[in-house]
Amino acid sequence: MDVTLDTNAVIALAKNEPDAEYLRELLDRHRQGLITLSVGRVAFLEATPKGANELPHVIAEKRIADAGLNMDRVQLYRAGQYLAYHCQECGALTFDFELDRGYALCIHAILAGVKKIDFNYYEYRQRRINDLEEVVQKSWHNHFNDVLGLIEHVSWGGNIFVTSDHDFLKKRRKLAVVVPGKILNPKETLEELDKMAFPLPAPPGWLPRLSVPQCMRCRMKRHLAV
Ligand SMILES: [Zn+2]
Repeated sequence: MDVTLDTNAVIALAKNEPDAEYLRELLDRHRQGLITLSVGRVAFLEATPKGANELPHVIAEKRIADAGLNMDRVQLYRAGQYLAYHCQECGALTFDFELDRGYALCIHAILAGVKKIDFNYYEYRQRRINDLEEVVQKSWHNHFNDVLGLIEHVSWGGNIFVTSDHDFLKKRRKLAVVVPGKILNPKETLEELDKMAFPLPAPPGWLPRLSVPQCMRCRMKRHLAV
């Protein structure tokens, strides 16, 4: 059972916020070998304290230590992998940059909701040309760190994405259509794990997690047939 901690969960642990009570229990379960905790690479770029002079990796290391995540088997700075897609039309498995972009656009659209955030930073900057550059950069980065963090989690086969971010949680019904596994807050994660019989079943062999109606080849074939 692969459990991913979102940035706000790591911060909650480091700062001993109310959710830390549940998160520490997750750390215990990791220690007991019942689950495997991961924190994505992108998560460490996020939420740099205001006015911090230290380099990002120094801040990240301090946060990891404060959160108590320096433990065996915790996958820190975990990087995303290539996403494989199953084509519903021809049954092929495919890796495709265009499909990756489409997937990122889809997650972006759900997470942005009614907020107007352009996929392209230049366009976003042009639209908010009268606002402070620092503010514009921050809001664009925060949003895309969320998008990328979730994609990383999907790419390595994460089962539960743990976040306390209400903005994130309120969109999970829509996200569930395109994100395998569950998106839960720390308390719900414990409840979910309690429902499972231990030891947890071993994960199945490698399987593609995403499927698309048509791979590029099928789309091209159809296009040429018209
Ligand atoms: Zn196909």
